[in-house]
Amino acid sequence: MRAVGDVLERLGISAERRGRRWWAEQCPLPSHGAPNPAHRYQNWFIRDDESEERPGQHWCFSCKNGGTLVQLVEEVRNVTREEARAWLETIGDRPPPPVLRVRFDPVGPRRFALPAGVEFMPMRDWNSVARDYAERRGITDEQVERWGIGVAHEGRLANRIVVPIRDLRGRVTNYSARTFVNDPVRYLAASERERPDLSVMWGEEQWSSDLIGRAIVVVVEGVLNGLAFERALAPSSLLSFAALQGSDVDDRKMAKLASFRTVVVATDNDRAGEKARREIYAALARAPGTADRARRDVGHVEFPAGSDACDLTPEFLRSEVLRCVGTIDRPTAGR
Ligand SMILES: [Zn+2]
Repeated sequence: MRAVGDVLERLGISAERRGRRWWAEQCPLPSHGAPNPAHRYQNWFIRDDESEERPGQHWCFSCKNGGTLVQLVEEVRNVTREEARAWLETIGDRPPPPVLRVRFDPVGPRRFALPAGVEFMPMRDWNSVARDYAERRGITDEQVERWGIGVAHEGRLANRIVVPIRDLRGRVTNYSARTFVNDPVRYLAASERERPDLSVMWGEEQWSSDLIGRAIVVVVEGVLNGLAFERALAPSSLLSFAALQGSDVDDRKMAKLASFRTVVVATDNDRAGEKARREIYAALARAPGTADRARRDVGHVEFPAGSDACDLTPEFLRSEVLRCVGTIDRPTAGR
């Protein structure tokens, strides 16, 4: 089943599966040099075979090296391409087929698909209007790669930056598309006709699939706010993100948030955000599991009135989240 996972194990690469990707404790590429011990589980990733885009593709944000699964074997084992292919053949399952992927969905509805016209490429290759907008909002090339963010110049999402919303298995289930030409409709999400899965929040694709690994989740209303927090806090295996897509609080989302030990609510400082925050507190307080061990900590970030995460400095966002986590930790420390 997990060809990529098996290959990592056989190569001796210690990695953790988060959503549709495996993140290595240390970048295994010879180009990396001495790893920085402060950067655990964040520099190097490889797409799982369940990934819809380029399974087996890997990339290191630090040494900027990457490639296909075969190239990984070549580099790590220091062998030729033919030897790498032959070695891969010896591992139970074959590596994912390069072209043909047959999809069969025996019961459920038709698989969700992004509208036509969305393109994926490094941010530096976006047209200048889209890129200028993204840069003004602080979005980085790494984030475009990490979250598979696209850009559309035609179709229903024309002139929008398209952030796909993927579930834990990496399947696209919805999107949040922000205009970069000042369209009066700032955000577009999938219509009911497109059959989005509305229980999925942006951020889930990077959550730990192992519940033990779910430490802190920062809950925001929109994906751009989530990206701002991610930049401020730097990718860390302790932190996850969840964007509600507006301020609607639904039970299925709350049940998912309840799988984290600590929930930091960072909804907007306005009436809707305040309502969402109250509902999250209420929902998580009545979640099942009353034993002290199962207790869930909830805190919230105080935004200055009228500003959202994208307007605030990374230092402010970081200190607010740390303050929040610190405040929640204190009462439990003495037990
Ligand atoms: Zn590296």
